[in-house]
Formats: sequence, structure tokens, C-alpha cells
Amino acid sequence: MAVEYNAFITEETIEGDADGPLADARVAVKDNISTAGIRTTCGSEMLADYVPPYSATVVDRLTEAGATVVGKTNMDEFGMGTTTETSAFGPTRNPADPERVPGGSSGGSAAAVAAGAADVALGSDTGGSVRCPAAFCGVVGIKPTYGLVSRYGLVAYANSLEQIGPIAADVETAAKALSVIAGPDPNDGTTRDPSAVDGADGDTAYAAAADGDVDGLTIGVPTELFDGADDRVVETVEAAIADLETQGATTTEISLPSVEHAVQAYYVIAMSEASSNLARFDGVRYGHRAESDGNWNESFAETREAGFGAEVKRRILLGTYALSAGYHDKYYKKAQDARAWVRQDFEEAFADVDVIASPTMPVLPFELGESLDDPLRMYLADANTTPVNLANLPAVSVPAGDVDGLPVGLQLVGPKFGEKTVIRAASAVEES
Ligand code: GLN
Repeated sequence: MAVEYNAFITEETIEGDADGPLADARVAVKDNISTAGIRTTCGSEMLADYVPPYSATVVDRLTEAGATVVGKTNMDEFGMGTTTETSAFGPTRNPADPERVPGGSSGGSAAAVAAGAADVALGSDTGGSVRCPAAFCGVVGIKPTYGLVSRYGLVAYANSLEQIGPIAADVETAAKALSVIAGPDPNDGTTRDPSAVDGADGDTAYAAAADGDVDGLTIGVPTELFDGADDRVVETVEAAIADLETQGATTTEISLPSVEHAVQAYYVIAMSEASSNLARFDGVRYGHRAESDGNWNESFAETREAGFGAEVKRRILLGTYALSAGYHDKYYKKAQDARAWVRQDFEEAFADVDVIASPTMPVLPFELGESLDDPLRMYLADANTTPVNLANLPAVSVPAGDVDGLPVGLQLVGPKFGEKTVIRAASAVEES
């Protein structure tokens, strides 16, 4: 079933403990999350034969909670993409329409859930990679607050932006999986215990928050995240928001002027971090090694020429450029300034509203092959998701309806460690 969609790169099982909150659940794991003894390719030729010696903290927590890992899912190479077409293992198809992409970069994870091949799937979200495929495939995806979930065992793309998050067919199941993977980890110094964070709700029993109760909730609707979106997407999302109003929520128009710069800032920061993170794939420490009788520089170059795909190379080159001595202030520093501005805009907005609602993706799922030759167009599709990563906030994408059978996702963003608020609001969208 999931085979016809190419959702999995490797179908191997890790049995879970006999009981626990996720007993009998089948979990699919994105192939950039380490699984002991099972190859973890990151969708790259470079790591096609890499078998990790240990499992990521999130994988251990899931199996200890009773879940069984059923396989490793297809993804854009190293998480770099919005369609799952940059994978070295071929594209994944969208179960809602096999001629269209499932979104990315966690497209295999969302497709596995949408096709019924998994109850829960893990993705990683650096700039939207859990929410985008959830939206395109018509399922639920949660991107946690930065620091809520351990990144130990996640192969890094851009450390300061990314979090592992759950994908499931409904909000409650995704929330239950989040509770299992959330919480501090001594192996990841950036994790935080929400109960030790000032003003944060320390209780991480998220499934109970999926009660559909939005009575009294204030929803901010930022004009900037609707401008330029496909009309049919806007209509579908507006109807879902209007429905929340009939359930007792109030809406108020807000403005986030900085988000106009979010995609640019995101790509400079993400590529810069990627250029540094991917330096380790040199054929000596990690990865495919080219047969070369040349010197180390030649061997390094040949290894990376053969091991990386075009999109990864583009990003390593641009990231290296943005970090170089002469251009650092012009690009990297400017991007960090924009990031601070985005963070501040959201903080100010959350003084007046409980959640912020928008389309998850401003477009409907692309047809296969449609966006591959046009990287800029692909990057711009991340307009609504990347601001959330820049600001390290939690967000959910929940199905809002469809346009001629193509799913449309509604994004709900909350304040730091406000997971329960976005889960509650998302569960109300499901009820309508
Ligand atoms: N599409 C974005 C990118 O290509 C987001 C990817 C992600 O979240 N891993 O960088």
C-alpha cells in the first residue's frame, strides 16, 4: 500500500515494549532519525549504507511506550526541500493524488500515515517539514517549541531551527505521541523542562487538551500570511476559522510586518548552518568514499561530488558564501537581525491573542516535477511556516477542508510551550 507511494526507504521493524501509552501503535520514522542497526540514509546517496550504532532518544522513548517502529520514511535529501523530490531514493507520491507531491521534507512520514501504513510518524521540522507534508496529505502535524523534544540522534540540518514532531491522522493521537517524546534529555543540552520555564505550563499530558473547547479563545489572523496565497486555499482556511467563531472563539486581525523577510532570513540561516553541519560527510568520518588515488582534497571533493545531490550542493555553496569573512555581515548578520525582529513581532502579538491562525501552505500540493527546476518558487512556498521556526514557537497543521479533493491545512501557532493551546484549537477544527 505505502509501497506504491514510495513512502518508505527501509521497511524494518523495531519491536516495542509489551505495554505503555502507545501499545500496538505502528510508528514510521523519518530517515534522518537514527535507529540502531537499521540504516539511516537522510534520503542521500552519501549515507546509503550508514547504519547508526545507537537510536535517537525519541525512538527509544516511543518503543519504551509500546510503539513498534515499522520503517524509515522517505524525505528530501538531508531535509532540504518542500516536496520529497530531492530524495536520492525517488519521489514519494501523495496518497490524496498520486500525481502530486506529498510535501516535504517529511513527505514519506505524512504519506505513510495518510495511506494507513502507520498510526504515527515522526518528522523533523526545520522550516516547515512536519507541517507542510501534513497539510498536503490531509493529516495532522505538530512542530513543538524549540527545546521541548530531544534532537539527540537527529542528523542535523540547521540546529537552531529544527525540532522533531509527530504526524498522525488526528490531533489526539499526535498529541499523545508528543507527550511520549517530549521532555528534557541529558544527551541534548538544548532541551528544556517546561515546568522549569517561567510562565510555561509544565504539564506535558497533551492528549487531554484535545477536547475541542475553544470557547473564549482569541485567535489572531495576520493579514501578511494570507496575502498572496491561492484564493481557494484562503477561502477554505477562512471558512474553518469562521467555524471556530461559531464554537465560541473570537477573531481579531493582527499584523506581523517582519514576516515579509522571514523566508530570506530563514534560507540564509538554514544554509549557513547546513554548510557547517554537512562538512562531516567527507568519506573519512562519515559517508560514501570515492575511490580516489589523489590527495585528501581531491578525495574530499570527489566524495562530495558523487555523494550529494544538486539541492544539497547548492545550499552548501550558498551557506559557505554567506558565512565567508567578506560577506558575513552582509548576509548572516542581517538574517539574524531579521530573526530577532520576527521573534519580537510574535511576542507582541501574543500579548493580545491566544493563537495565530493562517494557511499552513499558501498553495495546493504541486504536481510531481512542477517545482524542481525553480528553487525560488519552492522556497517561497515556505512563507508561512518558516517564521515559526525563526521564533522557536509551537504550531500545528490540521486539515481545514479540501479543494477538488486536494487537502488544505490550517496552521495554528502558539506562544512558547503553548502546545496545549494549539492542540485544543486544532481539535476544535477537527470537530467542525
Ligand atoms: N522547505 C524547507 C527547506 O527546504 C524546510 C525544510 C525542513 O523543515 N526540513 O529548508
